[in-house]
Amino acid sequence: MQDVGNAFTSLMPLLADLDSGLLNQMRRFNSFQGRMVTLKEEYSATCPGCGTGTNHYHSEFCDTARCAKTGIQLISCEFFSEYEYAHVCENTTWTGYWPGVLDCFEYGLFAYFVPNVGFIPCTSDHPDAVCDLNTLVVKYDWDVKLQKRVPRNA
Ligand SMILES: [Zn+2]
Ligand SMILES: [Zn+2]
Repeated sequence: MQDVGNAFTSLMPLLADLDSGLLNQMRRFNSFQGRMVTLKEEYSATCPGCGTGTNHYHSEFCDTARCAKTGIQLISCEFFSEYEYAHVCENTTWTGYWPGVLDCFEYGLFAYFVPNVGFIPCTSDHPDAVCDLNTLVVKYDWDVKLQKRVPRNA
């Protein structure tokens, strides 16, 4: 099933701060509230979208899968690539972590949510910290070779 919040996060990164779907997505994947965000807590042996195991390819219509060419949600990328980019999408594997989570830990990107305000940057030891996937998508570009996001202009 199409995950609207997830698609918005991928396709409208500049509006991501306004997208409560991202918050719902993160809460659904894992209950982050009231404790420190850690890699151990983030790990999942199977994909929450399609149930595939670590290092195995996502199923064809998994809404968690990213396109290996763009880093965009695969099911959205395939649809929009016709208009925006000329490429054949490529599936990716489940790494054990939600797409972007490892990058957030590497770059120290965390935030907590304040209702009616949005996401406020913080450190990983803030009690309500979640991985700041918004900032990751807005300020970091997908590197096809590395299969991760890297700082823009790096
Ligand atoms: Zn999957
Ligand atoms: Zn693609």
